Amino acid sequence: MLAQKIGKPHPDNAAGRFYVLDTCNGCGLCLTYAIHNFSFDDSGLFYYVYRQPESDDELDDVHKAASLCPMDAICDDGKV
Ligand code: SF4
Repeated sequence: MLAQKIGKPHPDNAAGRFYVLDTCNGCGLCLTYAIHNFSFDDSGLFYYVYRQPESDDELDDVHKAASLCPMDAICDDGKV
C-alpha cells in the first residue's frame, strides 16, 4: 500500500492528473526537469503544475521531476 501524501493541492495547478501539494519547499528542481510544465506562484515560494504534459517527452519530464522532488510533493492521480 502506498503511503498517503500530506498536504493540499496548490490552487494554481492546471486541471488534470498531475498537481503539486503545498508541502513544496520551492527548490525549483521540477522546473529544471520539466520547464514546460511547472512554474512558480507570485510568492516565488511554491511551484505548481502550469500545464499538464502534452507529449510523451513532457510526460517523461514530469515523471522525472516527480521522482526527484525532495518533498514528494508532485502527485499523479493516474487519470489521463
Ligand atoms: S521539486 Fe518539489 S519541492 Fe522542489 S519546487 Fe518542485 S514541487 Fe516544490
